[in-house]
Amino acid sequence: MIRIPAKVLIVDDEKDFVEMFSLRLSEGGEKVFTAHSGQECLEKLKQENIDVVVLDIKMPGMDGVETLKEIKKKYPIVEVILLTGHGAIETAVEGMKLGAYDYLLKPADAGEMTKKLEGARKRKDAQEERIRKAEQKSLLRRGGNI
Ligand SMILES: [Mg+2]
Repeated sequence: MIRIPAKVLIVDDEKDFVEMFSLRLSEGGEKVFTAHSGQECLEKLKQENIDVVVLDIKMPGMDGVETLKEIKKKYPIVEVILLTGHGAIETAVEGMKLGAYDYLLKPADAGEMTKKLEGARKRKDAQEERIRKAEQKSLLRRGGNI
């Protein structure tokens, strides 16, 4: 089966981190977009049909949790993986209660990130499939076929 690359958006105020991971994930076959702030993240989501956002929690201005809330409000199906430091796991937990798929501890490992991206992607695909089926059913009902 041909694997369609996931569209991943990496958001972090640390430019080196964004560069390194965007390179790694591109090499792994994903289609990678980048942003360096919450605002920029929301702009990119408007322009591109993103599957998964890898989102840093600690950013100046609009932080990761605020950005997550906006993402889930506007694009509930987009999956979010949070990036956090060892001292702030409780913030990641809060984020997961707000709808984030999972979190990664910094300094994140590319292998671990790939694994979590895969899981997030699968969850999004499965949800989209359920929505498609429900839509088909509702169309059939409307057509009076059932
Ligand atoms: Mg940061």
